[in-house]
Amino acid sequence: MKVPFFRHALGSADADRIAAVLATPYLTAGDVGRQVEAQIAEFFGQPHAALTSSWTLGAIASLMALGIGPGDEVIVPAMTFAATANVVEMVGARPVFVDVDPETLLLTPEAAAAAIGPRTRAIIAVHLYGRMADMAGLSAMLVGRDDIALIEDCAHCFEGMRDGARPGAFSDVAIFSFYATKNITCGEGGCVVTRRPDLHAALLQIRSQGMTASAIDRFRNQVYHHWDMERLGLKAVLPDLLAALLGPQIETIAARLPAREALARRYQDRLGGLPLRWPASVPGVVDARHLFVIHVAPRLRDPLMLALNEAGIATTVNYRAVPSLRYYRQKYGYAAGAFPVAEHWGEGAISLPFYPGMGDAAQDHVMAQLAALLAQDRFQA
Ligand SMILES: *Cc1c(COP(=O)(O)O)cnc(C)c1O
Repeated sequence: MKVPFFRHALGSADADRIAAVLATPYLTAGDVGRQVEAQIAEFFGQPHAALTSSWTLGAIASLMALGIGPGDEVIVPAMTFAATANVVEMVGARPVFVDVDPETLLLTPEAAAAAIGPRTRAIIAVHLYGRMADMAGLSAMLVGRDDIALIEDCAHCFEGMRDGARPGAFSDVAIFSFYATKNITCGEGGCVVTRRPDLHAALLQIRSQGMTASAIDRFRNQVYHHWDMERLGLKAVLPDLLAALLGPQIETIAARLPAREALARRYQDRLGGLPLRWPASVPGVVDARHLFVIHVAPRLRDPLMLALNEAGIATTVNYRAVPSLRYYRQKYGYAAGAFPVAEHWGEGAISLPFYPGMGDAAQDHVMAQLAALLAQDRFQA
C-alpha cells in the first residue's frame, strides 16, 4: 500500500471556478481577490486583508511596509521553516534566532524578551504545526515598545485559536500561506491580515511596484487612470485565477477541522506506547492540525524514514533548526549546540502522512508499519 505524504482535495468544482475566471477578460488580481480579502478579514474579525503571491512575498512586503532593513534585527524562533528567517535576510536585516520551548517548540515571551537588543525592530512568532504562540503574552511584553513590531507566521495556522483569539488579534501583521500543502491552498498564494490601515495601504502599493493604483483601478470603467509611484515595490499580487480557489475553502475551513483533529487523535491513541514523542498540546489552544510530527532518537531518524519509504510511506522533516542550515551556519558562525532544543528536535523529527481523506486503511498502514519497525532490533534506542 502506497501512502503519500499529502494529497489535496481540490476537484471538478474548483476547475469550474478557474474556468469561470478564464471566461472573463481579466486574469490577474481583481474582483475575485477582493471578495476573498473581504472574506478573510471577516473570518479573523480584522479590518484589512491583502492577498499576495506567497507567504514569502507577503512577509517581505510587510517588512518593507514596517521600514525594516539594513542595521535592523528581527527575532525569529530557531525551529521553523527557513522562509521565516529568509525574508529578514532578503530585506537586509539580521535574523536573531531564539531557541524554542522544549515542550511546545514555540517561541515564548520570556525567550523573546531576553533576545531584545538596541537594534531589535520586530519579533516573528511562528504557530508551529498549527498551535498558536502566546500572542497575548508577546504583545503584553511589548507594551511601551512601539519601536518593535509583532509579526505572526500563520503558514500553519488559519483555523487555530488561543484563549479564544485568532491570529491577527495581537499583531501588526499576521501572514498566511496558501502553498500546495497548506490547510487552505491555491497552489501558491498568501495573505497579510492587519489591524493597521497604514500598513494595509502600504502593502497594497508594495505588492504592485509601489504604484498608487492597482491594475483593476487603472482600467476602471474602461477609462485609463494615471498612477504615480510613491515608494519602491515588488510584484506580489495573487491572480484571480488562483484566488478563485480560496473562497469555498475559507467558508468550510472551520467545519473541516474536526476531521484533522480526529486523524491526529487516531495517531496519538495508537502511537502512545511507542518510543517516540510529539510536541505537548498547549492549554487554551485550538490546534489547526497542519502537520503530525513525531520525534525519535536522532540516530534512528534517517534509517526509520528510509524503512517507512520502503514500506510505501512518504514522510518529510519539518524542520531542521534554521541556524544549523549551511547558509546561516556559515554566515553567522553558529556552533553546534547553540540552539539545543531546536537542533535536537530537528535531528529526530519525522512528519507522518497527514491529510483529511487519507482514510483509516492508509493511516492504519502507517501506524502498523511504524510499530513493527520500532520493534526491530535495529531500531532500539
Ligand atoms: C510554508 C511556510 C512558509 C512559506 O510559505 P510560502 O507561501 O511558500 O512562501 C513560511 N513559514 C512556514 C512556517 C511555512 O510552513
